[in-house]
Amino acid sequence: MYDVVVVGGGPGGYAAALYAHNFGLSVALVEKGRIGGTCLLRGCIPAKAWLHTAEVYATVKRSGEFGVNSSEPSLDWPVALERKNQVVDGLVRGLSGLLGARNVDIKHGHGRLVDGGVAVTSPDGGDETLTARSVILATGSVPRSIPGYDFDGARIVSSDEALDWIAQPGRVAVIGAGAIGCEFASFLGDLGSEVHVFEMLDQILPGMEPEAAKVLGRKFRKSGVKARTGVAVGPPDFTDTGVRVPYGDDAVEVDVVLVATGRAPVTEGIGLEASGIATDRGFIPVDPATMQTTRPGVYAVGDIVAGTPQLAHVAFAEAIAAITHIADGSIASVDYNAVPIIVYTDPEVAAVGLTEAQARDRGYDVIVSDHGMRGIGRAIILGETGGTVKIVAERDGAILGATVADPAAGELIHELMYAVGWEALPEEAASFIHAHPTVSEAIGETLLSLAGRSLH
Ligand code: FAD
Repeated sequence: MYDVVVVGGGPGGYAAALYAHNFGLSVALVEKGRIGGTCLLRGCIPAKAWLHTAEVYATVKRSGEFGVNSSEPSLDWPVALERKNQVVDGLVRGLSGLLGARNVDIKHGHGRLVDGGVAVTSPDGGDETLTARSVILATGSVPRSIPGYDFDGARIVSSDEALDWIAQPGRVAVIGAGAIGCEFASFLGDLGSEVHVFEMLDQILPGMEPEAAKVLGRKFRKSGVKARTGVAVGPPDFTDTGVRVPYGDDAVEVDVVLVATGRAPVTEGIGLEASGIATDRGFIPVDPATMQTTRPGVYAVGDIVAGTPQLAHVAFAEAIAAITHIADGSIASVDYNAVPIIVYTDPEVAAVGLTEAQARDRGYDVIVSDHGMRGIGRAIILGETGGTVKIVAERDGAILGATVADPAAGELIHELMYAVGWEALPEEAASFIHAHPTVSEAIGETLLSLAGRSLH
């Protein structure tokens, strides 16, 4: 009998299997495909590899501005695709080695919760039942489409296929301007594809600070990405030359449509009903302190959990919470108030905690401060002055949230993560000094003005 059987080898599942070694727990990890899950194989890592190719391309393209002459760059798509694959393969190899070194038994096959453990059906049809004291479900999510736009892998695709395009698409419609849609629009636009983004809500990056969304919107316009907000697309029309995507009284014709309108949990066929585990529109509600489902001894982590952000680092933290509870009953609950959310577009948009609108909706009397990058020496040196920092605090109280739009936002946001997580007061956070010249000084300036003073 295993102490823990984990179903699903993505960030939630593999993190649980790895972390269990801290407590000497015996673990089996059941994975029906390749170890790594969405994040390593079809998500975070390959998407960021493409974004980095676009960043290198864009840097070479504007090198003359910095006095470095080069010829106009040209893109070798197959080489970029191969590099992306090598990055993914290297990480998967490293992860497999780490799981082996931690004595995790990897079982290849489809796992299903049964009384006393998990039934595994291997690809060749063989069945095996793994008995377990506890089970962690980490079966993740898959792309979800919208009516009329069924994925066909060629003209209507999800991010799964788009990360493996063997040639650069000339004309692309991206439906949905959330993090995934905007990341694709960003790198495809920078690499020279004609990109049309459609978003039903009234801004790109819905739910994030409008000031930050505007920074990205300006960059989109500069690189020729046409982002249309507040529009719903009609059913597609397949023509000899492409796909017509209608919206309002107009339409655009593209070669391929990428639908990025959200992800559905993978919770069918994993034995939930028979085990009497409650679900909510396919997601699994859990006790947020322990990650336990409505059935004691069965835990859920990652993208299948109801009401928590679908992010790899959230899955890691939830796995730690579940294993800690399994090991000795103690609590290591996730602080969902201080989860950094990063959109790796150019420029990046990163946020933590509440936006101004969310804080007001929750009844806070808020104060807000923002600071652009225009006067920041390092940003001027880098030629990246379009960004902004915005911090929200409760009047006479703690910092509630922050957003940064800048090429380095994904790194910069972490100091604000501590401020939000530790409920720092603006004057406390402002009392620390930021090194000069750094882009982080914009955060220092914003904190100072939030504390009622200002320097520059
Ligand atoms: P998954 O990673 O989906 O893994 C689930 C695993 O379970 C899969 O390997 C699947 O094969 C397996 N499985 C399913 N059912 C069974 C079964 N019955 N038996 C056995 N195995 C099973 N997040 C970030 O934090 N940062 C990012 O930059 C980021 N970028 C992204 C970009 C894209 C394009 C996409 C699509 C997602 C991105 N995400 C990002 C989200 C991130 O990938 C997910 O939040 C994360 O992978 C969720 O981990 P998980 O373990 O819950 O599920």
